[in-house]
Amino acid sequence: MRERGVSVHTGATAAQVSQAGDGPVSAQLADGSTLASDEVLAAAGRRARTGDLGLETAGRQPGTWLDVDDTMAVRGAAGGWLYAAGDLNHRALLTHQGKYQTRACGDAIAARARGRLDPAPWGPHSATADHGAVPQVVFTDPEVAAAGYREDQARDAGLRVRAVDYPIGNVAGAALYADGYTGQARIVVDEDRQVIGGATLVGPRVGARRPAATNAVVLGYAPHSPSITTFARPRTAAGPGDVRSIAQAVFYVFATGFFLLLVKRFWHRKPKDLGS
Ligand SMILES: Cc1cc2nc3c(=O)[nH]c(=O)nc-3n(C[C@H](O)[C@H](O)[C@H](O)COP(=O)(O)OP(=O)(O)OC[C@H]3O[C@@H](n4cnc5c(N)ncnc54)[C@H](O)[C@@H]3O)c2cc1C
Repeated sequence: MRERGVSVHTGATAAQVSQAGDGPVSAQLADGSTLASDEVLAAAGRRARTGDLGLETAGRQPGTWLDVDDTMAVRGAAGGWLYAAGDLNHRALLTHQGKYQTRACGDAIAARARGRLDPAPWGPHSATADHGAVPQVVFTDPEVAAAGYREDQARDAGLRVRAVDYPIGNVAGAALYADGYTGQARIVVDEDRQVIGGATLVGPRVGARRPAATNAVVLGYAPHSPSITTFARPRTAAGPGDVRSIAQAVFYVFATGFFLLLVKRFWHRKPKDLGS
């Protein structure tokens, strides 16, 4: 973004925003500096709309998010009959996660009634993916796609992780998509379990790569799995394997050229001057 002339201010707080007539919008930051822009986009966040549901009758505080276990049962609710799936539980505020939680929740309610609840992680009655396996795409241009933990989230969750960065423009399929493709991938490796714990991709159409990243996280692919998994070429799905292939191709071209030069030189060499 900076290369394209966007000025990025992270950790900044807008103290005041104003506009005179149809002129530019002026934002004064908490550090005293002022920014002028055409538009202001405010991400306001969300609040739980639980003030008038009667939560107090189940022993919960009205107006708050509902803390649930992995079967979506509300923790501490009197009688154990209250469930909350979707945004209301504040686990992963996305449509697909809400639907996922609802499936687990419905099955858990039915299974509990039959005395057959199986709350084991990744079981049919447990929304385990909410913890560290949430996929999402921000449909901006370029797109931002993610699955699982970002590096900071993983560290906050107490995991020992290593971040591996790779420019997506280096893989073969990127050039097929666009000349001068620019994009960036960061893979988070869970060092203790030796699995891929998360992936974040930024670049044009990276949302299409998100399902593969989600599989890698949910199924716990080993960090070296991109080297042992083959994909149809050209594609933008992998990284270092492509670089290795390109390096090999360049080596073979030069080696073959050198060999042909030697043959040519040997074939056309002049007979030795044997003297008169
Ligand atoms: C601007 C915006 C863009 C988004 N874009 C995406 C996206 O691209 N992809 C994505 O995955 N997610 C997106 N989300 C998030 C997504 O909309 C939510 O995660 C999802 O709608 C949550 O579903 P839900 O059923 O839990 O809650 P909701 O969809 O909020 O449904 C709750 C329903 O309950 C009703 N209700 C509230 N109080 C009462 C009451 N007392 N009695 C009866 N009914 C009541 C509400 O009117 C509402 O219809 C976006 C959210 C916003 C705000």
